[in-house]
Amino acid sequence: MTAGPILSIEALRKDFRTNNGAPVEALAGVTFDIPENDFVCIVGPSGCGKSTLLRMVAGLETATAGRIDYRGEMVSRPRKEIGMVFQEYSLLPWRHVLDNVALGPEFLGTPRARREAKAMEYLRLVGMEDFSRAFPHELSGGMRQRVAIVRALANDPDVLLMDEPFGALDAHTRILLQKELLRIWENHRKTILFVTHGVDEAIYLADRIMVMSARPGRILDVIDVTMERPRVRAHPSYGPLAERILAILEQEAAASFRDTAAAQHGQD
Ligand code: ADP
Repeated sequence: MTAGPILSIEALRKDFRTNNGAPVEALAGVTFDIPENDFVCIVGPSGCGKSTLLRMVAGLETATAGRIDYRGEMVSRPRKEIGMVFQEYSLLPWRHVLDNVALGPEFLGTPRARREAKAMEYLRLVGMEDFSRAFPHELSGGMRQRVAIVRALANDPDVLLMDEPFGALDAHTRILLQKELLRIWENHRKTILFVTHGVDEAIYLADRIMVMSARPGRILDVIDVTMERPRVRAHPSYGPLAERILAILEQEAAASFRDTAAAQHGQD
């Protein structure tokens, strides 16, 4: 018997209302499955609904229509099996690093000694054990994101949702963290859904890349990245793959620019 997908997203739609009551169609009929242990990246034009999609999978937003299942069970609220890492500023500034990482186990009622031991173990995983008593403002951006990642891992989720987690980092730190994330993913067998606007980042990380349309977001293309790991950016398949994705994104950006211009013209 083959196991079903760990996540199944079916005809998902999300409409918002702006402050003045105007409707905003964020997602329009998004459907895809994610097999367990896959590393999936989502790329798409800015504002196409990537964060909305991730927040819905995390149980932080409700669907207007359609559904999301985790191991066959509908996701309707946050659950500990699905963890989330945001772009930045997600650590609690008044708690030192160890207490930030131990937050999830603390909510679950894990006794102090056990949750601190577990948090230290995770900090060692990313070389941050010497900073356990530091506060977030004392850390570099890269260090803060290492802590944010292991804080999510400390809940032992099966699925890790990552919303442009390395977007605010300098190029060198970003590459280091990409490598660390792959090491964690390979050793801990998580399923990762990773939003990025970096096509290069998606090719470096993903088993599969989903390319979204301009808003309202739909999946335009699903690309299997079959290059062997560890990947090298000088691989001959790297450039053509990047070109293919960038061509789709460029077309989408142009279409959305035309729509915006037409809407503005209509208002004149
Ligand atoms: P992305 O992550 O791809 O940049 P988002 O998911 O953040 O896009 O947003 C998709 C669209 O939905 C945008 O037009 C955004 O303005 C709109 N949107 C997102 N959240 C809300 C909200 N809470 N209320 C109203 N509109 C929203």
